[in-house]
Amino acid sequence: MIFLRERPVPFEFEAMPGYLIRLAHANRTSAHTLVLKLFGHARWPSVKELNVLAEAVHCTEDEISRLSVVREHLGAQGWGWYMAGRHLGKSYFVALRRPVVCPLCLAEGACQRGLWLLSMLSCCPQHQCRLCQTCPACKQVLDPGRSEICHCKCGADLRLAKPVVAEQDELIVAKLLATISGHHFCTDHELPPWVRSLDPDAACRLIWLLGWILPGLRDGVIRSGRHAPNVEEALLIARYALDRLTCWPDAFLLDMQKIEVTVHSTSASYLDRALTSLHRFVVRELADDALDPVRQAYQAGARALWVKWNRIHSLRMFGTQLHLGFETPFDAALRAEDKRCLQ
Ligand SMILES: [Zn+2]
Ligand SMILES: [Zn+2]
Repeated sequence: MIFLRERPVPFEFEAMPGYLIRLAHANRTSAHTLVLKLFGHARWPSVKELNVLAEAVHCTEDEISRLSVVREHLGAQGWGWYMAGRHLGKSYFVALRRPVVCPLCLAEGACQRGLWLLSMLSCCPQHQCRLCQTCPACKQVLDPGRSEICHCKCGADLRLAKPVVAEQDELIVAKLLATISGHHFCTDHELPPWVRSLDPDAACRLIWLLGWILPGLRDGVIRSGRHAPNVEEALLIARYALDRLTCWPDAFLLDMQKIEVTVHSTSASYLDRALTSLHRFVVRELADDALDPVRQAYQAGARALWVKWNRIHSLRMFGTQLHLGFETPFDAALRAEDKRCLQ
């Protein structure tokens, strides 16, 4: 067991990487060395290793569980995150290598907020300013391995970075993500009630679909590789997603129609690939009951598209994969009618 002279207690909602930087700095070592000594490997600790950390810093279970953004093994699904008592099922919902900061939060206390690591958050919901990803002095992207939370590797004080006022769209998405992650913000926008009651994981999946996958398909881009977006991409994602959510489901259905226009100029095989990737995401990642409105809207949009295109082309692959595994009230009514006809 490693001996630590200084044992700071984690702040509420403090990010695990930031806490380790703070702990290492207080003990005049680097976070990398500390992690190696504590856990015997160079990765950030997982939920299962929290007890080792608790013992080393003499913290109670309550105190150590305040830490946010801890790695969690999800069995066959690989790695996810444990975020202030809630789970995030996709590794790309957290941008661990993107250590952004809110200079105004830092001025209030040297703490890396767990919320900042959410990859689809581009601004601070409290101070309503864009998160900084570069140093105000050397203009380099902030180093996740820097030795102090409030200072860049070059020595510049990150609290002196000039805050940029956030746009309304990104602020609404940031407040939504913060509120459903346990923070107290008033979501002052007319989002559908089912969106406001989602858990953070379901909300991230929904925002990813509406703000990242759909706009790509509309522009003829199939985004198969998944990476955590940077601040600029997060801003675009927030804009797109909010647009769809405020006019739900009309804006979503319009997207499906625009995808049809896009594929009209390409080929049936493109439609096949595009809709298969979209379809897989909906079936695999949006299986949560709380996301029922999305699956219903998708099914309505995808069916219209598929029926029309299947008449023109032979969509062999997509045709065999379009087994939705759920049905809309419309399908149920159709089925009842079929039964009546057979009797
Ligand atoms: Zn802030
Ligand atoms: Zn710097």
